[in-house]
Amino acid sequence: MKIGFYGAARTVTGSKYLLTYGDYRLLVDCGLFQGNFELHQRNWRPMAFRAPEVSDVLFTHAHIDHTGYFPRLVKDGFTGRGLASPPTKALLAVLLPDSGGLQEEEARWVNKIGSSRHAPALPLYTEAEARDSLRLLARIEFGEKVQVHPGLQVQLHRAGHILGAAFAEIGYKNRSGERQTIVFSGDLGRRDIPILQDPEPLPEADFIVLESTYGDRVHEKRDVQGQIKAALETAFARGGVVVIPSFAVGRTQELLYRFHELYEANQMPHVPIWVDSPMASSVVDLYCRFRAEHDVEMLAMENHGDSPLVAPYFRICRAREDSKLLNEEKGPAVIISASGMATGGRVLHHLLHRLGRPENTVLFVGYQAEGTLGRRLLEGEKEVKILGEMVKVEAAIELLPSLSAHADSLELLAWLGTAPRPPKKVFLTHGEPAAQEALAERIRSELGWTVGIPEPDEIAEV
Ligand SMILES: [Zn+2]
Repeated sequence: MKIGFYGAARTVTGSKYLLTYGDYRLLVDCGLFQGNFELHQRNWRPMAFRAPEVSDVLFTHAHIDHTGYFPRLVKDGFTGRGLASPPTKALLAVLLPDSGGLQEEEARWVNKIGSSRHAPALPLYTEAEARDSLRLLARIEFGEKVQVHPGLQVQLHRAGHILGAAFAEIGYKNRSGERQTIVFSGDLGRRDIPILQDPEPLPEADFIVLESTYGDRVHEKRDVQGQIKAALETAFARGGVVVIPSFAVGRTQELLYRFHELYEANQMPHVPIWVDSPMASSVVDLYCRFRAEHDVEMLAMENHGDSPLVAPYFRICRAREDSKLLNEEKGPAVIISASGMATGGRVLHHLLHRLGRPENTVLFVGYQAEGTLGRRLLEGEKEVKILGEMVKVEAAIELLPSLSAHADSLELLAWLGTAPRPPKKVFLTHGEPAAQEALAERIRSELGWTVGIPEPDEIAEV
């Protein structure tokens, strides 16, 4: 068995790990690189393997940095199955076509302003191609052991990161006929975040491929609700509009849940809350539909007919015309819009419109990868280019650090500690180099385990 690390190696996006087992090839996650121009360009580089050679794809969860390359793989000749948990499969039917639409929009934009070195600029795939790729998706229930190939078994366990998120346990026989297990963490969530069940403990594993997004950080243990309240109060006092760039899947639902709690406790003024995302309503529906994924608090609320995700206190904006009308909104008001790192999507229009005014606030609620517009704003850039226009940054730029769907270094270590026995090796992926070095050091010194940090395109024999 070999693992090729073809994405999320020494970086946080583009997750793609190719398992080669005899003539069978299983690609674990099939993500887009996201972030700066260089990362963006990597999606266009020829890959180290050919799409028709991949037997199957296994998805850990629906986020585009783990799934967004799939339509391209299909376009390039992949004909196998795209295996996913039922909620992930349902989410992909929303997310992948949206991603195709964004690709087309971007290509149109680049052609309009004539900034492409290639004329005309092309989308990586279209919305129609993304829709077409959905026919290859197949479900794997949580906890079900599926023989995907003779001698190779896959089982998904809940990872508590977003709806449907799993870590994958893959069993196989090595050359000497011994049974071995590799676990791919996917993105590991956190205990006690609202709505979803907590991450499950690790099974026995010989190798663990572990994400390390927050490998060098510890989330503040301050009361999240209080922090949100304080951030909004400060922003509302300025009188302007609070723009929250947010992943449409996961983070937006958590925000709605938190706002609902504040409303119910009379801790928040009744200002308009706009969810400006054509996807948001479908994703909220899916979050409601998969009740088996809900934690006890969420189930208790729903049993009282009080789901925070269908409450009437927020408004969803679907049509582009309605989105434009939000420019008239005077404030105080909240606009939640994707993408979460301000790398694309409708939030760019809101930033373009709002950044130049000191009464407005941009509130980041998640990880901002290197090179993204989100990171640059947080680092204090005074002037940024958005959709081809230069805009001066006069709005307040804030960060809510405690709202994260990723485990921090302590939580990652605690999760590793649930393993019934030490693995032979841990491979760290999905992190920036500093976070990876720090986490590797802690795993070595605190657990005494062997750790490797694969370079892009590195292949490990396991
Ligand atoms: Zn994720």
